[in-house]
Amino acid sequence: MQRFVFQRATTSDAALAATRAGDAQYIAGGTTLVDLMRLEVMTPATVVDITGLPLDQIEEGIAGGLKIGALARNATVAHHPLVAKRFPVLAEALLSGASPQLRNMATTGGNLLQRTRCTYFRDGVSSCNKRTPGSGCAALDGYNRMHAILGTSEHCIAAHPSDMCVALLALDAIIHVRGTGGARRLPISELHALPGKTPSIEHAIAPGELITHVELLATAFSTRSHYLKVRDRSEFAFALASAAVALELRGGVIGDSRIALGGVATKPWRAREAEQILAGKPPLASVFEQAAKAALAGAMPRRHNKFKVELAKRAIVRALEELTGGAR
Ligand code: SF4
Repeated sequence: MQRFVFQRATTSDAALAATRAGDAQYIAGGTTLVDLMRLEVMTPATVVDITGLPLDQIEEGIAGGLKIGALARNATVAHHPLVAKRFPVLAEALLSGASPQLRNMATTGGNLLQRTRCTYFRDGVSSCNKRTPGSGCAALDGYNRMHAILGTSEHCIAAHPSDMCVALLALDAIIHVRGTGGARRLPISELHALPGKTPSIEHAIAPGELITHVELLATAFSTRSHYLKVRDRSEFAFALASAAVALELRGGVIGDSRIALGGVATKPWRAREAEQILAGKPPLASVFEQAAKAALAGAMPRRHNKFKVELAKRAIVRALEELTGGAR
């Protein structure tokens, strides 16, 4: 690990000031950053410990919503009774991620910005446009079983690793950020970037900005929501494909709905085409299959991950069946 300056901040102002100069990273749970610093994939000159900031609260929001502090631990959020009751998809997604030990350490803000598990990115030596812009992408013709099939570019096909972000996307979460210029908020759909020509740019948070909290609004579909994750083993494994689904049923037909996918895309992936197919239809297996087909219509698999196309379709169908009480 390379040498770095370690600082502790106990106020947001101090944290912002410490990172203003650039080449600095906040640390909270450290479940991604410490790994990547040990591997020398990330080599910040300054690391700013923000665990002393008062940002770990989970509070009632507006009209049945919730406000989740950026430093709230994944396990705390997952087991919070209001999360399980009002936003079950979020509790299920968090409990499907990592291991109990990691969930006890990882924070909401860190999970929002967690970095890819692409082995070529993490090995520190392979060609990787995300780690070293312009160096190429070893995954394109390498072993790409875990990589993305949606949202890819010729410069990067790394899958986004988060379960939590997929659930938050299905819940239309709002991310609140503080910077030296003041506070701002952005929908989670605008937080993560597609790789395009610049895979090293992963999100819309500027250097020195600080995520303060996540806002969840109660919607017609948030309580009827579910997360289904398919992986190589039942614990401590990243998704091969996952589906966060949420919908309202009105008079026996589907009203507003959300379908978001994980494990198959370069960012948490909203399947709007699938949602359009569900609107106004009865919750039948045949309708779910049409929606799943639409969600994967744009998939561009590589040599080793063609299986993800069918797997993701089945994940969507099964998640919708479980949410609506079984196929008819
Ligand atoms: Fe790097 Fe992305 Fe290619 Fe992986 S897929 S080697 S992260 S450029």
